[in-house]
Amino acid sequence: MQKFNDAAYKAELKSKVAALKKEKNAVIIAHNYQRDEIQEIADYRGDSLALAQTAVRTDASLIVFCGVHFMAESAAILNPNKKVLLPVKEAGCPLADMITVDKLKEKKKEHPDAAVVCYVNSSAEVKAQSDIACTSSNAIEVVKSLKQKNIIFVPDKNLGRYVQKNVPEKNIILWEGFCSTHIRLREEDVLTAKKVHPQAEFLSHPECDPEVLKLADVVCSTGGMFKYVEKSEKKEFIIGTESGMIYALIRENPDKKFYLPTQHLICANMKLTTLGWVLHSLENEVYEVKVSEDIAKKARKSLEKMLDLSKK
Ligand code: SF4
Repeated sequence: MQKFNDAAYKAELKSKVAALKKEKNAVIIAHNYQRDEIQEIADYRGDSLALAQTAVRTDASLIVFCGVHFMAESAAILNPNKKVLLPVKEAGCPLADMITVDKLKEKKKEHPDAAVVCYVNSSAEVKAQSDIACTSSNAIEVVKSLKQKNIIFVPDKNLGRYVQKNVPEKNIILWEGFCSTHIRLREEDVLTAKKVHPQAEFLSHPECDPEVLKLADVVCSTGGMFKYVEKSEKKEFIIGTESGMIYALIRENPDKKFYLPTQHLICANMKLTTLGWVLHSLENEVYEVKVSEDIAKKARKSLEKMLDLSKK
């Protein structure tokens, strides 16, 4: 019996993906938390903000979005004339599911004078009910830009608390949502990692618990981590975010060392996409993400306001 050769199998899948991509004028966009094999075939990699900007700029007629549902949905909202595919239709985000439009409407009634800022990790319907969207890279800037003092910030309470700390002149009304991956990073994990790697700086994503953020040398988005590491003279870093970032950071900084403080920083949804699913997606042009035009129109406004602010 012939032995299965994983490397040869993956090489074959990659070459089929490359051929189909060319034939269909497609582009592959991947979030920094995707599997290594997906990051390798991606035309663009980045955090939510960078990917939203890429989705707007691309000339490709077909976008294969390797990430989770809300990301592909944002790309579809921003590109109404392009076909946006999510290779695994079950790839969702537990944080985005922690808010419903009805609950948000109730909250808006309780605080009629407040502006609503929604983290991009939310559904199109929630974006449509919000004044402006934000990502973890620009949340502070977005909140500062608003004239209202009271801000309903949804759905991530840790990012909301982080914004409140940095924009004390505003009153942030928090939503009880959290990222089920970042919440797994505990204070003890960071303290242990710091003992083992005393020379390393600790970079944390703002979705982590406040106790973890207190220990951080730098709090930033995944895009911010790339920028910081590139400029830093330090050679070692403890990374407080999803495990996929380690591959991406090593690739861009081969002379530096990166440590994950716990093996539990894995987002199961982000890891659902494999080379096989990307090929399946391209071959069959599935699973197309569509948003009804009345919702898309309002959600687009929230996203475009954020993108315009990030251009300034
Ligand atoms: Fe959602 Fe957290 Fe996974 Fe990102 S890492 S997709 S916020 S659960």
